[in-house]
Amino acid sequence: MARLGLHIEVRGTVQGVGYRPFVYQAAHRFGIGGRVWNHPRGVSIDAHGPMDALAGLVTTLRCGAPPAARVTSVACTEIAFEEGDAFVIDESAVSGERRVSIPADLATCGDCLRELFDPADRRYRYPFTNCTNCGPRYSIVHGAPYDRANTSMATFRMCARCQREYDSPQDRRFHAQPNACPDCGPTLATVTPAGQEIATPEPIRFAARAIRAGLIVALKGLGGFHLACDATSATAVRRLRERKHRETKPFAIMVRDLAEADRLAVLSDQERALLTSVERPIVLAQSREVLRCAPDDRLIGVFLPYTPLHHLLLHDAGVPLVMTSGNVSDEPMVTANAEALAQLGDIADLFLVHDREIVTRVDDSVVRVIGGAPAILRRSRGYVPRAIETRATFDEPILACGAHLKNTFAIATGNNVFLGPHIGDLENLATFEAYETAIERMKDFLGVSPRVLVHDLHPDYLSTRYALGQPGARTIAVQHHHAHIASVLAEHGLEGPVLGIAYDGTGFGLDGTSWGGEFLIVDGDRFERAATFRPIALAGGDLAIRQPWRIALALLDDAFDGKPPLGELPLFRELLSQEIDIVRHMLADGLNTTPARGIGRYFDAVGALVLGMPVARYEGEVALRWNLAARDDERGRYPIVLRDGASPLEVDPRTIVHGVVDDLLAGAGAGTISARFHNTLAEATIEVARARRGDLPVVLSGGCFANARLTQSILEGLQPETRVFTNRRVPPGDGGIALGQIHIAAAQLRAGTVAQEALVCA
Ligand code: ZN
Ligand code: ZN
Ligand code: FE
Repeated sequence: MARLGLHIEVRGTVQGVGYRPFVYQAAHRFGIGGRVWNHPRGVSIDAHGPMDALAGLVTTLRCGAPPAARVTSVACTEIAFEEGDAFVIDESAVSGERRVSIPADLATCGDCLRELFDPADRRYRYPFTNCTNCGPRYSIVHGAPYDRANTSMATFRMCARCQREYDSPQDRRFHAQPNACPDCGPTLATVTPAGQEIATPEPIRFAARAIRAGLIVALKGLGGFHLACDATSATAVRRLRERKHRETKPFAIMVRDLAEADRLAVLSDQERALLTSVERPIVLAQSREVLRCAPDDRLIGVFLPYTPLHHLLLHDAGVPLVMTSGNVSDEPMVTANAEALAQLGDIADLFLVHDREIVTRVDDSVVRVIGGAPAILRRSRGYVPRAIETRATFDEPILACGAHLKNTFAIATGNNVFLGPHIGDLENLATFEAYETAIERMKDFLGVSPRVLVHDLHPDYLSTRYALGQPGARTIAVQHHHAHIASVLAEHGLEGPVLGIAYDGTGFGLDGTSWGGEFLIVDGDRFERAATFRPIALAGGDLAIRQPWRIALALLDDAFDGKPPLGELPLFRELLSQEIDIVRHMLADGLNTTPARGIGRYFDAVGALVLGMPVARYEGEVALRWNLAARDDERGRYPIVLRDGASPLEVDPRTIVHGVVDDLLAGAGAGTISARFHNTLAEATIEVARARRGDLPVVLSGGCFANARLTQSILEGLQPETRVFTNRRVPPGDGGIALGQIHIAAAQLRAGTVAQEALVCA
């Protein structure tokens, strides 16, 4: 058999995920000599041996990989054969670039899980066990490069046995940076809200008993604190709602395994695969309504345990658990023990804490299958800081500051974009501080300090002010909906032109008004507005969003020329006539009233009207209820009018409002009206797309495309004649804006079209 040498380049997510030990073990199995080392762009291998053995190795590399690895390519070139059986992991070949060095947090692997429940194993029931294939990563790292000294595991000195595992290439804990055991690693404690430690040899069993007794436990997890209670106990759930002041917003439910998930939700194969993926996101799926965690929950957020601690707690509790972020009102999730006692002391009855510091807060990610493919609605734990590769290469690093709600930022370097973790709504000091800290940390991980900063066009967003406040930065302002569409272009490697359809709640338009029902022809860094929706007046600005009856009133007055049949509409019977008069005066005088074109506002208004919900208790509540109310089997729809004379073309929904009111007065159910409303919006979208598209591909983005029904109807109406692209790797909502901002800024820099006044030098 001929013997030869091969140089192999493996690309993808292959660092910090146990890939080199995987190669090492495969090489040993095939009796191949040579070495493997980390390369800035992946993993490199020199392999020497008989041809069939080499073929076996290459097939293994192509077809198999550790669970968290993502191999995108395996390329081979022949090199001179070298004698020798030894195969080594070459540590000395350290890359000059840091860009792939910090991995995302990984869910507990099957091997670790088996040991966790094996009474004979030395790590039996040890809540911090991990290995090369699993465990905390991003959440415990202080700085680059990723090794133990730079993590919050640095304070724990490995015992001799752990050290041996860590040093041995054959061991599945070879170079597992957070390697630990009961003798040397982190420990748990149960603490009362007053800060008193409760002496118990089994803190998890103790906490599980507390949960079974209906108590609320604050639990220090991987990326922050959660509040947990028995999801099957109406009393416990009600108590949690009261104490957290969260009356109706749905809670995510953690279940022990897939079988239990099946009992709570109707799951497709795709949803089951997401639930068990190494990222372990919260998966939004159709509820079987076994649990009554929120009124009329037709959608349930379920997820599986992703740390040994969660596995043990779920096992011991024996019931599904409500697992919601441990935070107060809109502040970021708590990460430190003392902070938890101070902030959650009035909510939790018991604290289950540990002594491994959470360095970077990472919220749970949220995914929903929409139109047959997963849409990431919140991209954080498990995904961050994994890179999104782009077709274009960035000549210099760029920082995109994101939007306002559901903020995430992003840094571009090389041909990668790194999105930061979900920060939340940039509305208070605590969140803003978390934002600044996370940006600094990501800059440090990547070893870059971008001087080009991209921000939203809205002058008052804290993210805009952050960008404009950085000394010496070049700043580029990007229109919100342009950025939404560009986020899809960046993901799919498209330049345009495309017809972008951006539907969301709000975004600052070029004319200073609020946009959000936009059809944009996007070509590279430019866009042209092809169509939009007739605006609705928001009386009281943001107050109208919290009190959507105000928007409903404006919509009705507009559609009925100031004489809607308010007396016959249940929504308005509960409201005081003075309140209605005040809002009418505001609308008439244009006082503190802004025109808004957001599709989300139409959902708010019509939802409030038909469901009789004057106020939203959390952002988007009425729109969500209105979406979920729609009956699946209803095919009817309302007439629509396109005002073609206008430029841009304007969709006039006043006929829809008439149709809705007629149905409501005729006693049609909310399910029917909601379905007809959805059908009509989808049909209007398809009609405008046909009128304005030419032969361009269509791109859908914006927060409204988290609405599965609307998205699916539009996709069905346009495909297959039209190619339609949607967000797959970043959220369609404002959590994906930063990627689009980067795409546009890079195109502008390449084209030299950055406006001179945008080049601010402080
Ligand atoms: Zn493991
Ligand atoms: Zn140990
Ligand atoms: Fe938006």
